[in-house]
Amino acid sequence: MSENKGTGRRRMSKCSFCGKNDKEVSPIIEGPNDIYICADCVELCSTIIRQEKRKGGSGPSKSFENIPSPRSIKEHLDKYVIGQDYAKKCISVAVHNHYKRLNQGQTGDNEVEIEKSNVLVIGPTGSGKTLIAKTLAKFIDVPFAISDATTLTEAGYVGEDVENILLRLLQAAEFDLEAAQRGIIYIDEIDKIGKTNQNVSITRDVSGEGVQQSLLKMLEGTVANIPPQGGRKHPEQQYIQMDTSQILFICGGTFTGMDTIIRKRLGHSQIGFGSEEIIERNKAEETLEILKSVTPQDLVHFGMIPELIGRLPIIASMSPLDEDALVNILTEPKNAITKQYQKFFEMEGCTLEFAREALFEVARLAIKRDTGARALRGVMEEFMLEIMYKLPDFGNKGKYTITDEVVRKEKTIFPEDSSKKTA
Ligand code: ADP
Repeated sequence: MSENKGTGRRRMSKCSFCGKNDKEVSPIIEGPNDIYICADCVELCSTIIRQEKRKGGSGPSKSFENIPSPRSIKEHLDKYVIGQDYAKKCISVAVHNHYKRLNQGQTGDNEVEIEKSNVLVIGPTGSGKTLIAKTLAKFIDVPFAISDATTLTEAGYVGEDVENILLRLLQAAEFDLEAAQRGIIYIDEIDKIGKTNQNVSITRDVSGEGVQQSLLKMLEGTVANIPPQGGRKHPEQQYIQMDTSQILFICGGTFTGMDTIIRKRLGHSQIGFGSEEIIERNKAEETLEILKSVTPQDLVHFGMIPELIGRLPIIASMSPLDEDALVNILTEPKNAITKQYQKFFEMEGCTLEFAREALFEVARLAIKRDTGARALRGVMEEFMLEIMYKLPDFGNKGKYTITDEVVRKEKTIFPEDSSKKTA
């Protein structure tokens, strides 16, 4: 805001670059001779300057001298993600090759051009798809963003534009366009934008094909116009132009019922013999084997357009998690749930132990909920709530053991059941 000389009345200031006034954008910075610039334009200018500096060679793009080997990427994933070896291997190789590809672009060695290999991850809910993406994000040295395909709609409909996914990557790169253009994007729930014939809506593109087409463009490589503030695009808005040809896309989806489709095609039936336990144990492995033989035609069955599938040449299948895997998830990862509870007890000067049978009881209860490892926390919290509520008041520094009876809430570890604690 500035004052009108003489009259003393405040008059509205307008950005000299984009013409917006201080009601539309703030703050607006005043320069000499009635010149103003708004916050949006400052941000845009700084992006352009950074980009120009790089082009001029004053800020060379980072080259990756120590590209993490697929093995070291997988070893890092192993610390947090239980099982899913096949998917972890596929993704580790894809990420490693992504770095190599970026380096190739910089050294000008273009004899054999390495093509981008986007990845499609297929696995049931709660099997670790997002976890792999999040764990990668912390480990790797390029900007990384996670998005959800279900929020996307075709331009012109209510919902998010596909470009917002790119904006998230740009934000992850702290608006360093050059870095963002070499980043990795994880798009979850990709199967939810399959074409459907049901559900006609005039406000939301539920048919999914339009969204798939826009995603396709992004995956293939395009120069996208990104609104710096996000939201819907307006014709009068200024855009940041982002080239997506070097961005690695990892798409994830549950594709529920995919194994049945493949089984039908292969003429497989369920495992025919063996004890129930063996069947249970083998089921996860068998489902994984079946999922590994997924073909583009199977994905078309789900309403995915063939062109989009063609841009996702690597398919990393994940298996449903069985009891053993769930028990491992409860105890093994660096930030395992049981370790977190043990930490709380430690803070109160106590020790907490989980009996093996208790862990299996938790796993069994979680499997009933049918949401994979996602159910574990809920099951744990149900019986731990009362314990955590009483713990700070109880004041008896000792060792406590969670048994399967405690999990089933048939017993408690506190005074009512003093036989359970040993000082
Ligand atoms: P989705 O496959 O549906 O994306 P998530 O990766 O979001 O599932 O998993 C939800 C939660 O379950 C994770 O935050 C994690 O705590 C746990 N989890 C799932 N799968 C695994 C796994 N393979 N190893 C360790 N924890 C897992």
